[in-house]
Amino acid sequence: RPVIMWFRRDLRLSDNPALSAAAKTDGPLLPVFILDDDAPGHFSLGGASRWWLHGSLESLDKSLDGSLILRRGKTAEILNKLLDETDACAIHTAAAYEPYERALEEAVEKLCKDRGVEFTRHEGRLLNSPDAVSTNDGDPYQVFTPYWKAAKRKHFRDVLRAPSLNDFAKARSDDLGDWKLRPTKPDWAGGLRETWTPGEEAAKKALAGFIDNKLLDYEKDRGRLDCDPSSRLSPHLHFGELSPLQVYSAVRHADEGASGKGAESFLSELGWREFCAQLLFHFPHTATEPLKDQFKDFPWRQSKADLKAWQNGETGYPIVDAAMRQLWETGWMPNRARMVVASFLTKHLLIPWQDGADWFWDTLVDADLANNASNWQWVAGSGADAAPYFRIFNPILQSEKFDPDGDYIRRWVPELKKLKNKDIHAPFEASASSLSEAGIDLGSTYPKPIIEHSKGRQRSLDAYEKVKNG
Ligand code: FAD
Repeated sequence: RPVIMWFRRDLRLSDNPALSAAAKTDGPLLPVFILDDDAPGHFSLGGASRWWLHGSLESLDKSLDGSLILRRGKTAEILNKLLDETDACAIHTAAAYEPYERALEEAVEKLCKDRGVEFTRHEGRLLNSPDAVSTNDGDPYQVFTPYWKAAKRKHFRDVLRAPSLNDFAKARSDDLGDWKLRPTKPDWAGGLRETWTPGEEAAKKALAGFIDNKLLDYEKDRGRLDCDPSSRLSPHLHFGELSPLQVYSAVRHADEGASGKGAESFLSELGWREFCAQLLFHFPHTATEPLKDQFKDFPWRQSKADLKAWQNGETGYPIVDAAMRQLWETGWMPNRARMVVASFLTKHLLIPWQDGADWFWDTLVDADLANNASNWQWVAGSGADAAPYFRIFNPILQSEKFDPDGDYIRRWVPELKKLKNKDIHAPFEASASSLSEAGIDLGSTYPKPIIEHSKGRQRSLDAYEKVKNG
């Protein structure tokens, strides 16, 4: 009898414990992916994620010799039908931890129990399952440093090779093109196509390229916006084209004998990924609600016009605008840029972090419920191990520090291209003659600042003062 491998966000053959277990059984393999747009509710896939998913499924199907079965609809109903159609005797899947995914797993587990079908969840999406690391009192960690110290001490299994697969069961499959995951009219995905190649093979190449070219300087250059020092593995990790264990092991191996600094620093970012996942697992409400109770009454502002200016990269602060335009164009921005724009939205503009997280959800190719919500809350001050409320990034200083010559700004905000380095971080402080030499008419060719930095900072401090002590 066939065995179902229920793929979700583990779209790879290597180091996939669920797939390896399914492949070991006697029956032919039935690899299945189900697009269920109802189950996630508010968090159904955003536009950029859909674009990525298309490429990732195409690549997985190729690795499976065209045997991937695609179905769209309610997960439990589809699996039930598939069991009817194929008489499969078991379902294997990778354990998932988001609230709606856990609910789905429970529904499928019940279905299997009722039908006498074996159902097995395998770890693989994280280095440690979210309940494997806890404080001495058995509570989840809410501070990163002790969490990561304890987490990286755990014993990790060896990386698994891709199993050999040749016996596939057949079933009806949808045509991927009919799912319309990629935009047509208007086709806004040109920048995504130029920037990314989804799929397991491309993910492995990206990891190798990062190790060969960037790992050694990762610690030193981290944060720089002008030289692209990070791995850009986030979408590959999100869709499970690489497992975190593959990344961890490859970096550890590469680091043997080297200085270790770049590797430690990089691995601690993987640690943040783990930390965020365990936070969402233990505090599922934090996908949409603050972790810290006193933030429930935070005096946020509602301003559609300001939100739109931020989304469009028209705030008048070049570093913020560059980052928001990079996001729109390529579906991604570096971590430092994410922190700067998130701080600007939640602090200078006092707009709820949830509005920013929603925009990221739709536009990021790596949109990830745990990472997105935790990081937004970290910046806003309402989350675990959060930045203190009085830490308000000065967008001009951030720009001078992390994009000293303005290369990042010039790339994404071309209308400022001709400004001198000294003026590019704050065109509104430049002399009239400098602006005119650079062909800039503030308020016409480039916006004036949406809010003055010191005013925004004070308004934010006043608002935070109200909730500071609960
Ligand atoms: P690298 O620096 O090369 O790091 C390697 C990997 O570690 C990343 O691929 C990622 O999986 C993980 N990682 C790095 N930084 C973090 C972090 N702060 N938190 C959790 N994991 C991290 N990351 C997402 O994957 N999806 C999101 O939706 C997301 N939303 C964010 C929203 C905000 C407001 C902020 C400040 C950060 C967000 N991040 C998110 C975290 C981080 O910015 C990205 O993971 C990182 O920029 C991806 O680039 P990279 O792969 O080159 O990272």
